[in-house]
Amino acid sequence: MSDSPLPKKFLRLLKPRLAQMLATLRRFVTAESPSLEKAAADRCCSVIAEEWSRLGARVERIARKQRGDILRIIHAPGKSRPSGQLLVLGHYDTVYSTGTIARMPFRVDAGKAYGPGTFDMKAGIVQALFALQAIQQAEIPLRKRIVFLWTSDEEIGSEASRKIFETEAHRSDAVFVLEPSFGPRGLLKTARKGVGEAELIVHGRASHAGLAPQEGINAIHELARQLARIEKWNDLRRGVTINAGVIEGGTRTNVIPERARAVLDLRALRVSDMRSLERRLHALRPLQRGARLEITGGFGRPPLERKMSAALFTHANSLARQMHLRLGECTVGGGSDGNFTAALGIPTLDGLGAVGDGAHSSHEHVLINTMPQRAALLAALLSEG
Ligand SMILES: [Zn+2]
Repeated sequence: MSDSPLPKKFLRLLKPRLAQMLATLRRFVTAESPSLEKAAADRCCSVIAEEWSRLGARVERIARKQRGDILRIIHAPGKSRPSGQLLVLGHYDTVYSTGTIARMPFRVDAGKAYGPGTFDMKAGIVQALFALQAIQQAEIPLRKRIVFLWTSDEEIGSEASRKIFETEAHRSDAVFVLEPSFGPRGLLKTARKGVGEAELIVHGRASHAGLAPQEGINAIHELARQLARIEKWNDLRRGVTINAGVIEGGTRTNVIPERARAVLDLRALRVSDMRSLERRLHALRPLQRGARLEITGGFGRPPLERKMSAALFTHANSLARQMHLRLGECTVGGGSDGNFTAALGIPTLDGLGAVGDGAHSSHEHVLINTMPQRAALLAALLSEG
């Protein structure tokens, strides 16, 4: 091939592959894969495994009891000893239960491919597949081993896969996360908030509101006062939010309630803010004498701080420019598995997957013309890493 820059070479190889990419995406999307339905997810896992096996890559299926099996695909550089490892991380589970495909069939219309899980994030897996194919075709001598890991429970907190991808991340020099990009320009996600959930239960004492009000301890009043206190911890400028999303308590108006409960959503951009929010929450003490607080939970995913992405983003940007593309970056409030790998201290670049919109909604879609570009970008990142 000519001596044009690598990303351009890849783009030239990948552009004519769009129809094949869409056919593969159709197969992946038609095999529905809800996080909570193991049998269906396993069928999708087989469909994905088959495509990767066809490339001659080493495909390992890691069995899970409750969730869909995990796929680990290893591409080692030819004869030479690898001088490190790159991890490509993503998930094939979706938030849509089986049968959604009947209402939301896969279709391509006006440059967009629609269907459950297209954007989040089956198109990302397709792009990675074709990126590897392009690397093989271009016969680029790789320095590092590439591991692709496709998990099945990202949408429900990654309990069944976390250990596996954390172990793999520990062995890696960088992690590329193929979660969807943001907005029509396809911004990469260089910072993500940490996300958590906590429950605050107030135990009071029941009594007749009319006959013996002095004997009661009103759990709802106590909860309301605690929430007024907690609300002040919000700091939008620092990216700290705490949201009481659910409350419940009480039985009848003439009964002083003995129990009230709130479920809180917690978010923070910095690890230090995450820790201090958790500390403050667990340090809450009752304001009413006799009331008792029960506080559980905390952050499930730590923040992905921008410093963990900065160098990789600069590199990705310089590769993209060689294809005359300009990459942008953004900070998002939601977490992904990239939050976990970044928290281990491994450089992590997220949002490298599809460009599109409507994740978790009926108009979920990807912009098909961007698929070869994003695949070329990933191929270049993996070749030069
Ligand atoms: Zn996702």
